[in-house]
Amino acid sequence: MNLKKRTLSRLGHTEYRPLQEEAIDALCSGRDVLLAAPTGGGKSLVYQAAGLIRNGVAVIVSPLLSLMSQQVDELNKKGIRAQFLNSTLNPGEQDDLVWALRHKHIDLLYLSPEKLVQPSVIGFLHSFDIALFAIDEAHCISQWGNFFRPEYSQLGQLKAFFPDVPIIALTGTVDKETMTTIQESLQLHDCLVMKNSFDRANINIQIAQKRKAKQQILYFLHHEVPGETGIIYCRSRKKTEEIANWLSHLGLPSLSYHAAMTEEDKQRNHKTFAEQYGTIMVATTAYGMGIDIAHVRFVVHLDLPNSPESYFQEVGRAGRDGKPAKSLLLYGLQDMLQAQQLAALQPLAAEKEIQHLGNLFQILEGRGCRRQNLLSHFDENIPACLHCDRCLSTKSEQNMTTTSQKFLSLIYHTKGLQPFALLIQILLGKRTKAVSAIRAELLPLFGKGKELNEVQWKSVVRHLIAYEYIKIGMSSIFTVQITEKSRSVLQGKTQIIIPSEHYYPALQEDQLAL
Ligand code: ADP
Repeated sequence: MNLKKRTLSRLGHTEYRPLQEEAIDALCSGRDVLLAAPTGGGKSLVYQAAGLIRNGVAVIVSPLLSLMSQQVDELNKKGIRAQFLNSTLNPGEQDDLVWALRHKHIDLLYLSPEKLVQPSVIGFLHSFDIALFAIDEAHCISQWGNFFRPEYSQLGQLKAFFPDVPIIALTGTVDKETMTTIQESLQLHDCLVMKNSFDRANINIQIAQKRKAKQQILYFLHHEVPGETGIIYCRSRKKTEEIANWLSHLGLPSLSYHAAMTEEDKQRNHKTFAEQYGTIMVATTAYGMGIDIAHVRFVVHLDLPNSPESYFQEVGRAGRDGKPAKSLLLYGLQDMLQAQQLAALQPLAAEKEIQHLGNLFQILEGRGCRRQNLLSHFDENIPACLHCDRCLSTKSEQNMTTTSQKFLSLIYHTKGLQPFALLIQILLGKRTKAVSAIRAELLPLFGKGKELNEVQWKSVVRHLIAYEYIKIGMSSIFTVQITEKSRSVLQGKTQIIIPSEHYYPALQEDQLAL
């Protein structure tokens, strides 16, 4: 058996996956690698195997202590000499580690990015041979994502300090921008860029309109994933607690997780969730990176994620064991508006955040297969999945060009100052107080939109926002503008085709058979 094969069997496997072998060969020949594959795609094995094959210690940078200690434990169980260097070690343990490294008793060394860039650590690393550097979760380097970790931006120094040591950067999510940022920041000039398919075919995708969100969730929990383990993502800390309490009262074992909880509470809830089958974790995005629980069977989004990348990552926490898993995202016009307002408040990168949201909106509002729409964002073309809500729906699409023209004209006539709800009332011919207050009964479009109901009008508005026919002002007063793009809609040159509205069913609390 050759060394490569022997190493694989030490790590507990029999065959390399094609991408793994290619990446390992590149590293062994001294070349840098950028490897993008979804979570669970087998990235860790690449640096572990190459690290064992190459002479010297493989230095692995990982952002989370829990992730490091979990990997080190697993490797030690297989008899692999792995250790981690972090601030939880006492001076005695640190001395032992230094001794072991100098005497070549360690093959894989895990540490955090902040530790690695300390001058004393860099100096120390020069005192023995290094097989490679592996930068896990390398997207943390990008300032524009939702995962930015300032410590990562200093890792660019590695190339200058260790020009002959190959670097492998690993990331679980990619868009072209992030890939380029990783290469530039880490100074990977002639690196092999490898991308695995991001399609997680075992996860069913459903995206639907929010109506009575709590009751819709009950339906999902009761009819689609009864008794299963899963995560419900919400935006606010308060909401995670409210929903977890509410579900617990209904007899569905639930916990919450958010950034304002104490470290102790977070750890406890995480542990219970990981160990007790059938628990529901209601969390903000603080419950994220490094969660590797094989039996998570579903992920629900009760609020909108921040970007297609976050959505993909969060949904990807389900079905890590490769078995069928489900996801459900519920949203409405109000959620889109709120998310945009929140993004606009981001002190550093409001424009970027709004752009990310815009990309997400297009995935949500796009025509055709959900999975195709999502993966095309990651530059991947796949055939229709045949099992998302769109592929399974018998409902067709509708041509909404005329109705869109009415809506756009009404924005123009009301100078972009009236909220969408009022514009819809005007089109429906409702004589409400708000309508009378601006004497909208006198407008030529008053009552001229009765071909649609309120819900359908909202779907038109969502589409117009997602595809940037209209733009919402980001000041404290509501304003909306018609964009250049909508001119061709008003002239009848561009058609607006919208998928028919799809509601997810609801289940009342008292119908819940426990
Ligand atoms: P990632 O780091 O990309 O999230 P992991 O390295 O944790 O993925 O791998 C995910 C799962 O796939 C793990 O359970 C791992 O043992 C398994 N795996 C990785 N490579 C192989 C292989 N060559 N053969 C069989 N199983 C593998």
